[in-house]
Amino acid sequence: MHNRRSFIKSTGLATAITAIGCNASTQKNTSKIQEYPKIISTWKHLEDNKAALDELLSGSSVLDAIETGIRMAENNAEDLSVGVGGLPDRDGNITLDACIMDSAGKAGSVSFLQGIRHPISLARKVMENTPHVMLTGAGAQQYAREIGFPLEDLSTVESNKAFAEWKKKSIYKPKINIENHDTVGMLAIDNNGNLAGGCSTSGVAYKMHGRVGDSPIIGAGLFVDNDYGAATATGMGELVLRTLGSFLVVELMRQGATPAEACKDAVMRIVDKGNYQDLQVGYVAMDKQGNTGAYSLVSGFNYTETTKSDSVILDADSYLD
Ligand code: ASP
Repeated sequence: MHNRRSFIKSTGLATAITAIGCNASTQKNTSKIQEYPKIISTWKHLEDNKAALDELLSGSSVLDAIETGIRMAENNAEDLSVGVGGLPDRDGNITLDACIMDSAGKAGSVSFLQGIRHPISLARKVMENTPHVMLTGAGAQQYAREIGFPLEDLSTVESNKAFAEWKKKSIYKPKINIENHDTVGMLAIDNNGNLAGGCSTSGVAYKMHGRVGDSPIIGAGLFVDNDYGAATATGMGELVLRTLGSFLVVELMRQGATPAEACKDAVMRIVDKGNYQDLQVGYVAMDKQGNTGAYSLVSGFNYTETTKSDSVILDADSYLD
């Protein structure tokens, strides 16, 4: 077990960029922000976290905050991994996955969804207005249309160009999240210690048509237990699915691990099983006290933590350089 732990890199929270309230600057060894409310998300989602925080500060619920923050990411055509402008599958279809969980343990999810700009909002509708947890494909789209979501072409000049370029060779070799990525997993805690979370993605670029990753799967891409904590994942969904990663992170916190320890142990579970070469997985977690942590398979994973007084991008510790 864990005999390769000696390779674990321990750079700590080496880099932080302050981006709200002052010019971006680099900080060393920035500690976690002990302040409520708090938003944490995978990758560089400063604006999206800020939108979520503003929603909370305006008096909305922690669930509203999550939906608002993730909708902002889904709207951003420059994010090539989320919502509009997301990179397509190998047949040129943009298929979207998302899920959401609230403080009461309720969950909603949509997968393999096409033509709907805000899968996170549809996931919330599934959670709140249907007897189900998950709708998929044409059925999810049908429900969206029934409740008034417009059908849209979500491709952009940029995503079409990227697909045309990929088509020239059509080689599918996932090399996920080594480069910076935009798939958004977001967790929030309000002043009363209530947690909620959401996750939204267009999935792995140039995947097989019909492929669904971890992001819409409750317990894989996201898990929230208001008594103990919340976790969300990014990276190669198959690795997260096989280990039910986000549930595992929360369960480890329930057993006493800190968010950082829990994220690391969940990554090590993947390592112990093997078959992770050239792939990336990153977890972020928040406990019931609002403490946060993150860990990834390979270096290069960062995450964004936001409170009223500060918003920072932090480098996660990783197993491999
Ligand atoms: N986890 C997503 C998936 O496998 C992709 C990502 O986070 O980059 O679909």
